[in-house]
Amino acid sequence: MTSLTDAANLPLLQALKPSPRMPALFIGHGSPMNAIEDNAWRRSWQSLGTELLAREAQPQLILCISAHWLTRGGWQITGMARPKTIHDFGGFPQALFDQQYPAPGAPAVAHSMAAELKSPTNGRPLEVDNDVWGLDHGTWSILKPMFPKADIPVLQLSMDYSRPPAEHYALGQQLHALRDRGVLIVGSGNIVHNLRAMRHTSSANEAYDWAAEFDTLVHEQIKTGHLDTLKNFQALGAVAQQAHPTYEHYLPLLYAAGAARSTDTPRFFNAGYQGAAISMQSIVWG
Ligand code: ZN
Repeated sequence: MTSLTDAANLPLLQALKPSPRMPALFIGHGSPMNAIEDNAWRRSWQSLGTELLAREAQPQLILCISAHWLTRGGWQITGMARPKTIHDFGGFPQALFDQQYPAPGAPAVAHSMAAELKSPTNGRPLEVDNDVWGLDHGTWSILKPMFPKADIPVLQLSMDYSRPPAEHYALGQQLHALRDRGVLIVGSGNIVHNLRAMRHTSSANEAYDWAAEFDTLVHEQIKTGHLDTLKNFQALGAVAQQAHPTYEHYLPLLYAAGAARSTDTPRFFNAGYQGAAISMQSIVWG
């Protein structure tokens, strides 16, 4: 058993080793309160973590692509040994600000990964961020329930929000090879995300028509293996515009789907909505 204190003293991971293929995940994270509320979403993250740790091979490292780390003019990977827990929200109870997720980073792996991955814009290596970011709530709010011991190193990969969806999918495709070296790929966003349209509901089944329509269209594309069409979501017109007035919560899906393959049968969970305008639909590939 590793305690949180022990985890902080573990030697840093220096390199990835070949491994049975890790899954690629897309997790709908929804409200930051899901990190600490005992609800169905959080319980499903706890079960998924338990299930993944019970598999024959466990992740050597987690690479998370969160809706909440947007960069412009390039992609970055966190390179700190001890990434800080970022509380990037306002108006929530103190209990949420008190949360920490002390998973280590892996600077050596971050540097080799940044050199290996190529910017879909210009083919150059990615950048390593040594002091700005850390783990934002898109990452820790789901990883803490999944892997509460925080003993698996975590890196975040930013999203260059100045670039079109197709480039995000192309970078996601490069992540596929990492799955054979013990890297668990985690995209964290929401398939439908319209904060302005949110309303109080008591039912996870209640959704706006446009939210349910977009959610279902995406579900069908994934179910039928049409992963490369996910990047063309804006062609769906008005319904896509309503589902994503800004689309930073959709983009992490393109990384997870890019890292998936048609041989990975998708498994869906957390069908349902928060506030009728946030889809919590999540997917495990592999
Ligand atoms: Zn979010």
